[in-house]
Amino acid sequence: MKKRAIFLDRDGVINRDRADYVTSWNKFEFLPGVLDALYLLSQMPFLIVVVTNQSAIGRGLVSQAMVEKIHQRMRIAIEQAGGRIDAVYYCPHLPEANCNCRKPKPGMLLRAAVDLDIDLSQSWLIGDSLRDIQASVAVGVQPILVRTGHRIRDTEIAVPILDNLLTVVKCVNFDSCLNSPSSTLVREKVAKINT
Ligand SMILES: [Mg+2]
Ligand SMILES: [Zn+2]
Repeated sequence: MKKRAIFLDRDGVINRDRADYVTSWNKFEFLPGVLDALYLLSQMPFLIVVVTNQSAIGRGLVSQAMVEKIHQRMRIAIEQAGGRIDAVYYCPHLPEANCNCRKPKPGMLLRAAVDLDIDLSQSWLIGDSLRDIQASVAVGVQPILVRTGHRIRDTEIAVPILDNLLTVVKCVNFDSCLNSPSSTLVREKVAKINT
């Protein structure tokens, strides 16, 4: 039977986004509650898969080897807190490269689905930007936004928005968090981010 997955964007969801890019482990700062959230998520019947655009590689600001080293240290820190990440996919390309993996393209989601036998229609992506939403809806993954990264304004796509990853994970049943009045969820129009 195919598996369900929770896809996670990295910057702005797991760690603090920064304009000068995360180019070393020193610049990788876990957002509040994320380690707890990943511990809780690890108890649930989902694969946990990170999908992240890392154009800093294409820009020559950081090496691919360094990004992989950062991911390894990220995974070790998460495991030390009792959680896990099952796989990490990253796009190293520049936006102009027009590759198939850089979100809003869904290439990383499609590749993970094949590699890990994931049912995308039963999976979720938690992100902080319009690109995350677009990549999700392109392949039938349900998007959820968190407020810990990009500020999203005015919008056109209705997507649930919650404060942070921990708030999302605490909606034990993701489906119920869409309609629960007790959650901090707001169903509001989401749309273009100002980049
Ligand atoms: Mg992000
Ligand atoms: Zn790419």
